[in-house]
Amino acid sequence: MTAAPIAPSHLHGVMRRYGRYLPLTDQTPLISLGEGTTPLVRSRGIEQRAGVGALYYKLEMCNPTGSFKDRGMVVAVAKAVESGARALMCASTGNTSASAAAYAAHLGMDAFVVVPDGKIAMGKLAQTVMYGAQILAIDGNFDDALRIAREATDKHNIALVNSVNPHRIAGQKTAAFEIVDDLGEAPDLLCIPVGNAGNITAYWKGFTEYAEYGRATRHPKMMGFQAAGAAPIVQGTPVADPKTVASAIRIGNPASWQSATAARDESGGAIQAVTDDEILEAQRLMAAEDGIFCEPASAASVAGLLKLRRDGLNLQEMTVVCVITGSGLKDPDTAMQTTPRLIHLPADLAAIERALKWG
Ligand SMILES: *Cc1c(COP(=O)(O)O)cnc(C)c1O
Repeated sequence: MTAAPIAPSHLHGVMRRYGRYLPLTDQTPLISLGEGTTPLVRSRGIEQRAGVGALYYKLEMCNPTGSFKDRGMVVAVAKAVESGARALMCASTGNTSASAAAYAAHLGMDAFVVVPDGKIAMGKLAQTVMYGAQILAIDGNFDDALRIAREATDKHNIALVNSVNPHRIAGQKTAAFEIVDDLGEAPDLLCIPVGNAGNITAYWKGFTEYAEYGRATRHPKMMGFQAAGAAPIVQGTPVADPKTVASAIRIGNPASWQSATAARDESGGAIQAVTDDEILEAQRLMAAEDGIFCEPASAASVAGLLKLRRDGLNLQEMTVVCVITGSGLKDPDTAMQTTPRLIHLPADLAAIERALKWG
């Protein structure tokens, strides 16, 4: 008798791990591309630099398409399938489109993605192209794209899979569950970039639900960070023409604005702005001192932590988690604009020894 092979797909995915906390029914297909269960990695360099008691990175760049979007997308797509949808649509600054396109491909569905023309980072566009989505590149920004996607999905029988879809938030809240499961308790602070504000909403939902279920005895202060040129929540008014190098948070009128400020206020946290220079410096420091290469938007969480420290917050007794939302490989063009330590040489050792002054 031969033993049945172990099918790894039965062991992973946020719907299998946390299904009892998700809006699933017997009809929901338990699909997965291996999302969730991402590493919580202790910092060495930045922890010291910022004087933090214990600093961890929640490495959401380790999700199958390289960003946290997969965690919510898998639930949104499964629920769309359950409701009979044959096609998906989203507006995107890049990562949502990559994620939606991947799950659509996995299920043989059509994906339509609406993106600001010429404003999508190279890696994200390459993924979306390869997964075979129909890319609608509009002459407008993300906020315009979301308006059009909402209108289109109201009118046509297509599932909208932006974070205005509550199943996206439900899936994304599982990241907070994982942090508590790994640490055994909620951290003191959660630092997170804020764009359309779905993710800060989802983490807060996750932390508060886990406390209600008795899995944690407290919740973190939610510290959200927007880019200075795209900081509507900080300024208290929409930004008509948002500008920042961090394309994933280049959003002027966040859909989850109200729930983001609720998360901030109920947790005793804050939402602040960090400049593009601070973002790029944090991105470089994380790579050079911790060995973690994230995309610019993700570095806003670490830029924000460094700013809190500069502003005099004592972090010595604290456990802090920074959410690292997406991979640095998503945006190679921005990375290559820093000065590379690169020397062009003939192919022999002597030339290398001369260049390095090794005698
Ligand atoms: C989508 C995204 C964000 C912003 O998340 P919101 O839920 O829109 O606030 C931040 N970083 C990366 C890498 C993203 O893809």
